[in-house]
Amino acid sequence: MRVYNTLTKKVEELKPREAGKVQMFVCGPTVYDLIHIGNARTFVFFDAFSKYLRSKGLAVEYLQNITDIDDKIITKAKTERKSAKDIAENYEKEFMADMNALGVTGVTRYARATDHIPQVIEQVKKLRDKGHAYQTKDGWYFDVKTFDGYGKLSGRTAEMAEDGVSRIDDGVGKRNKADFALWKHPNSALPPDSSGNANALMRMIDGEPAWYSEELGWGRPGWHVEDTAITEHYFGPQYDIHGGGQDLMFPHHEAEIAQQESASGKAPFVNYWVHVAFLINKGQKMAKSVGNFTTVRRLTEQYSKEIIRQYLFSADHRSPLEYSEEIMESFRFAQDNLKKTLRRMAVYSERGAFNVDAPGSSDRLSAISAEISAALEDNFNTASAIGLFNSMVALVNQLIDEKKFDAKAYDVFKSTLDSVNAVLGIIPEARPVDVPSDIADLMRRREEARAAVDWPGADAIRKELESRGYTIDDTPYGPILSEK
Ligand code: AMP
Repeated sequence: MRVYNTLTKKVEELKPREAGKVQMFVCGPTVYDLIHIGNARTFVFFDAFSKYLRSKGLAVEYLQNITDIDDKIITKAKTERKSAKDIAENYEKEFMADMNALGVTGVTRYARATDHIPQVIEQVKKLRDKGHAYQTKDGWYFDVKTFDGYGKLSGRTAEMAEDGVSRIDDGVGKRNKADFALWKHPNSALPPDSSGNANALMRMIDGEPAWYSEELGWGRPGWHVEDTAITEHYFGPQYDIHGGGQDLMFPHHEAEIAQQESASGKAPFVNYWVHVAFLINKGQKMAKSVGNFTTVRRLTEQYSKEIIRQYLFSADHRSPLEYSEEIMESFRFAQDNLKKTLRRMAVYSERGAFNVDAPGSSDRLSAISAEISAALEDNFNTASAIGLFNSMVALVNQLIDEKKFDAKAYDVFKSTLDSVNAVLGIIPEARPVDVPSDIADLMRRREEARAAVDWPGADAIRKELESRGYTIDDTPYGPILSEK
C-alpha cells in the first residue's frame, strides 16, 4: 500500500523494516479532561489504519502513550484540590470508556508516562553525556543547535522557531528559544533523596509530582521525552510508523526526532510519519482553548459508534473535516438507510428471493469492491472507500428491486460488508426482529385486506402496527416489518 509520508512529503510504498511486521506509535491523550471529537478523529483513524494493516496479514504492534504527568494535569489538580494522580487516573478511565464506545480496539499497548520514568531519566542522561542537554535553574534542556536535522519534518528551522511559536517551552537561561525541556525541576528545591534510591521514586513538592535522579536532580519529564523513552523501550531506537494530529508536527514530533536520533546516533528514527488533519467547527480547529468543542461522551450518547465512525472517515485524513449537528444528522439518515438494506437482505434471504439467475450482477458489485480495496491501498483513503461503499448499497437496492440480485451477488456483497466492517467498523449490527404472534397476526390480516383490495382496512392495520412500534416496508418480495 502507499502512504503519504510527512517526512519526505511524498506518497510512498509502505515497506516495513522487518518483513511481515509493523511497529506503529501514536501520540495519546493528556488525561486532564474528557476528550473531544477532534481528538477522536486522530484515534479512530489510526485504529482503522492498524486494523487495515492487520487485514493485509501484517503483525502490527500499535503502541500509544498516555500523558499522565503534565502542567495541565497539575493545574487542574490544584484547582480541584485533588492530587495529580487522582486527576490522571480518573480521566484515563474516562478516555478508555470513550475509546470503547467508539469501537477503538486496535491498540496493542497503552503506556503511561509515569510508568516509564527510569527510561526517561536514562534518555536524558544519554543526551547530557553526548553534549545535547544542558541544565538551567528550571531543568534540563535540549540544545537544538546541536542537532543538524532540526526542522526536517516540519520544514521549520531552529532560527524560525526563534520567532516564538505556541507550545515552545518558556524558561529562563535557555541557549536558544527553540530549546525544549527534557526534565523539569519543581518550583521549590528539595534536598537530594536520602534513601539514595534514584529513579522512579515519586514525591509531591508543592502539589507537583517529582522524581529523583542523582544526576539530574528532582524533576518530571518534559513533554516530548516521554514518547521517545517509551518507544525506545518497546521498539528500540528505530521503527516504522509514527502518527498523530497535524498540530503535533511542530514542535512535538520535531523534538522527538532530535532527541532520539541524538541519543542513539541512528537515523531515521521513524520511516513514515502520518498526520491527521483537523476536525473543524465553523472554520476553526476544534479545541478546548477555543471552546468550540463537542465531547466524545456527548456525541456517543446521541449517535451510535457506527454513525460517528462513518462521519469521521468521510473526509480523507489529510483534509479538514467539518463538524455540525446537521452533518451528523445526515449520517444518521445514511445509517438508517443501510440498516433498512441489511434488514431487506436478511428477510429476502429467508424468503429465497435470491434464487434468481442474473448474470452480470455480481460482476458489477465485484468491480466496486475492487475499487474500495484500491482506495484503501492508496494512502488509506477512507472518504473514497465510504463513497464507493454507499454506491454499492444503492446498487444492491436497485438490483433487488429489479429482481436481479442473485446468490452470487449476495456473496460478493456479504464479503465486502464483512471486510469493510472489520477495518472501518461502520456497519450496524443486524438484529433479527422478534415478531410476537399477535403482531404476526396483524401482518397476515393486513395482507388479506390488501389481497381483497380493502385499502382502508389495510391502512388501519398499518396504523395500529405503527402505534405498537413497528414500521412496514412493502417490497417486491412482500412486506418487511421493522422495529421503529
Ligand atoms: P492532546 O490531548 O491535546 O495532546 O490531543 C490528543 C490528540 O488529538 C493529538 O494527536 C492531537 O493532535 C489530536 N487533536 C487535537 N485536536 C484535534 C482536532 N481538532 N482535529 C484532529 N486532531 C486533533
